[in-house]
Amino acid sequence: MAGTNGELPFLVAGGGIGGLVTAYALALKGFPVRVFEQAEEFKELGAGIQLGPNIFRALKRIGLDHSMLDDAWIPNNLEMRDALSGEIITSIPLGDQMKARFGEPYAVTHRADIHGVYLKACQSNNLVSLETRRRVDDFEDHGDAVTIRLESGEEVRGRALIACDGMWSRIREKIVGDGKPRVSGHIAYRAVLKREEVPDDLWRPDVVLWAGPKTHFVHYPLRRGTLYNLVAVFHSDRYVEGWNAEADSEELFARFKGERPEVLRLLERIETWRMWVLCDREPIKEWSKGNVTLLGDAAHPMLQYLAQGACMATEDAVCLAEKVAAQPKDIPAAFQAYQQQRYLRTGQVQIMARVYGEFYHARGVAAELRYNMLHGRTAAQSYDGMAWLYGGM
Ligand SMILES: Cc1cc2nc3c(=O)[nH]c(=O)nc-3n(C[C@H](O)[C@H](O)[C@H](O)COP(=O)(O)OP(=O)(O)OC[C@H]3O[C@@H](n4cnc5c(N)ncnc54)[C@H](O)[C@@H]3O)c2cc1C
Repeated sequence: MAGTNGELPFLVAGGGIGGLVTAYALALKGFPVRVFEQAEEFKELGAGIQLGPNIFRALKRIGLDHSMLDDAWIPNNLEMRDALSGEIITSIPLGDQMKARFGEPYAVTHRADIHGVYLKACQSNNLVSLETRRRVDDFEDHGDAVTIRLESGEEVRGRALIACDGMWSRIREKIVGDGKPRVSGHIAYRAVLKREEVPDDLWRPDVVLWAGPKTHFVHYPLRRGTLYNLVAVFHSDRYVEGWNAEADSEELFARFKGERPEVLRLLERIETWRMWVLCDREPIKEWSKGNVTLLGDAAHPMLQYLAQGACMATEDAVCLAEKVAAQPKDIPAAFQAYQQQRYLRTGQVQIMARVYGEFYHARGVAAELRYNMLHGRTAAQSYDGMAWLYGGM
């Protein structure tokens, strides 16, 4: 596939959230793109994704802000409760007041829905070619073009390569070479229930976070309120490489023992959990080399405590497409400009996500200090604390 005037396409490795939004953002600027996904189909498993106002600022620049809201849910509040006493630690309005402060909404959606919005956008643009069962194994940069080698042995030539192949990126190994991701020692169990499976007295329109010692539990509605998302996180020395393995509910209940009945009753509603071993990496400032760059989790994998991995991948994609459009004749320079604009912001989220993880799982004196710090904060004070993140892009 080549563009209308014969130019080589951009090659995107990985058709997750980052790969698809990158392909679409580049196509909107008039560039042909080929996306290579190793899986049999373009599909997202998993559960809920929180979308801070910053992602909507990025989505507006590629015209997808409205479609992202179609199936989303706008929660009224973010409520943080002590999982032992049940006391409210802090409550932050997420509806109109949040929108007035940051100019964009705060929403929650299903991973399949955000992925679906990007997939549909790509399918509607004839500059994007979507290819499944195509694992990218290697690449070579020739200076004026890039060749990738697929699992099948086939070679494909393109203008440049953007690696959106996630946390365990093979391409990163060749560009950065910093080995495997860091295992945090935290595990997430996730499940999605139908609305009718949630007892009425436990259903809440808000994002509720129960903060316990070395644990936290989050729940909120999804897909216009028809689904209910549950995420239970705890410290564990269990380690399975990769993610999305079958979970062991005995360990889950052992870790949450002694917590509030609301927490335990919701945990008991779930028959099938999926498990994620949570990993991240140290932030880096150089993830582009010549005609090859990284994006999303391949570039800056982060713990999920700020709920920003998909948001950052989307911001990356919009930024990258704008930098490429600004200097289409010098892709290495455009990739450097993209990296330069992104590394401090994404590095801050990587670092702060670790801090928030400690904060959510505080115990003893640290939990008391957390209460003293957050309780009694006004909405305006809470928003000020989030402005570095939600006010960005
Ligand atoms: C428990 C949990 C909760 C989260 N909550 C939030 C949240 O609330 N808000 C938020 O914004 N983010 C959240 N995230 C983070 C978010 O899910 C990720 O940051 C985001 O999915 C990263 O997208 P990506 O496209 O970079 O990588 P991935 O989603 O990992 O996609 C990579 C894709 O590349 C494909 N691939 C891999 N290798 C190859 C190869 N060699 N060739 C071809 N294809 C390949 C894979 O099959 C996959 O489709 C959460 C993450 C977790 C674990």
